[in-house]
Amino acid sequence: MKGGQDMVRVRMAPSPTGFFHLGNARTALFNNLFAKKQKGAFILRIEDTDNERSKKEYETVIIEALRWLGIRYDEGPDSGGPYGPYRQSERTKIYRAYLEQLTAEGRVYHCFCTKEELEAERESQLLAKQPPRYGGTCKKISPEECAAQKTAGKESVLRFGVDDARGKIQVIDMIRGSMEFDPRLIGDFVIAKDLDTPLYNFAVVVDDFLMKISHVIRGDDHISNTPKQLLLCEALDFDPPLFAHLPMILNTDKTKLSKRENEVSVLEYRALGYLPEALVNFLGLLGWNPGGDREIFSLEEMQELFHMDDVHKGGAVFDMRKLQWLNGMYIRKKDVVTLTDMCIPYLCEAGYLAEEGSESAREYRIPATGERVSRQTLENIVRGEHERMKTLKDIVQLAGYFFQKELFIDAEILQWKECSRAETAHALTCAHDTLFRMQKSDFTSLQIEKNLKEMIVAQGLSNGAVLWPLRVSLTGLRASQGPFDVAAILGKEKTLQRILAAHDTL
Ligand code: GLU
Repeated sequence: MKGGQDMVRVRMAPSPTGFFHLGNARTALFNNLFAKKQKGAFILRIEDTDNERSKKEYETVIIEALRWLGIRYDEGPDSGGPYGPYRQSERTKIYRAYLEQLTAEGRVYHCFCTKEELEAERESQLLAKQPPRYGGTCKKISPEECAAQKTAGKESVLRFGVDDARGKIQVIDMIRGSMEFDPRLIGDFVIAKDLDTPLYNFAVVVDDFLMKISHVIRGDDHISNTPKQLLLCEALDFDPPLFAHLPMILNTDKTKLSKRENEVSVLEYRALGYLPEALVNFLGLLGWNPGGDREIFSLEEMQELFHMDDVHKGGAVFDMRKLQWLNGMYIRKKDVVTLTDMCIPYLCEAGYLAEEGSESAREYRIPATGERVSRQTLENIVRGEHERMKTLKDIVQLAGYFFQKELFIDAEILQWKECSRAETAHALTCAHDTLFRMQKSDFTSLQIEKNLKEMIVAQGLSNGAVLWPLRVSLTGLRASQGPFDVAAILGKEKTLQRILAAHDTL
């Protein structure tokens, strides 16, 4: 094990500067899987050194998203354990000591170059077809001149001096194998604004060392930081961790995942009605597969099966349809009682339902009509849509007609393709009269079906001629759960009202 560690310790180190998106969640998951499999620890460290961009609410979102996904960490803010919180903003003194050490050793120097000067240097290098890097202007400044510039109030940053002659920097990556970086292409880089304001590459190195991180598992957008971090480890005499850079997440056409999709916050998926177990399963397959065709894995199964050797080098394809398919699979695994509980908030949010009463005596009301609706009815509605739902929010589209006062009926859709307007009107009248004669107490799906089918035969009509306009009358839709079930759930009175209203549109 690296770093003299006898235990696997990994970390996720998000910056609370924006929403927690799928790429972040995938990094958290792979760290969690690796740690669990290796019986190690997974740490959450909030990298909030950037005062201006870091926001407490983003930290809250990170914690909330991980909790919702069920991805547990062992140390860090809100871990529930004795360790942490780990927030870089609370560790300034620690970084300062190491910055002072490097300064005293002459490894770091003050750089007074202005943004404009740096930009001009970069442009001329690009023009001369040279790789852009800092030319070292301030490296040559004498201690006296440096002191004078500071006294004069000139702004500076701390730059780490890279030894060009040190030879290639080798990174051994658990996923990509060995990579080499030329120090001459890196150039002296900024590691702090001042002694109390370290920047990412520096703080990360100090923390990974002090927190005894054995493996750094992160997105491959950080590859270019790795040689810099290794140089800092060398300068500070830290044994570096091992690295594993996870493949980039790509669109199905293999282009880089657009910002729009990638930046969708994890909690947005919750709002859209995705189940955490489906999202975790989906994220697990973004770059990893234990071999074979299996696609359904619980978090625990992935923790059991995860091996870094099975993580792909190539891009991981983000296929929205696969996520929807997986979500549908997990929805189907839910029992109706649980699924009803899960659907209710979406119906409430859409304004179709209002919850009242206490937790032990919940009551439901349909705001559009003011009627009460029983829990049993809600379960019947959900049961009928169970197979068709891909997200929890689908319940709103699929079953909205149960909660609307009046349906919009498109007369074009109402007509069965083989029937005229008059025939459709006749079919609806026959259906109405048949259902009208039924007792309320008999108004069950089975009995409705039986009576309507007998009427169809007796009248010499076809199933389509009656059942198609009946469905459209009751739902306003071309496709829905079976019309007998819908009628039974709506009840006799509403069913008859809806048939008459539809009849009137013809
Ligand atoms: N704060 C960095 C980020 O949010 C962490 C990168 C790392 O894991 O080293 O991208």
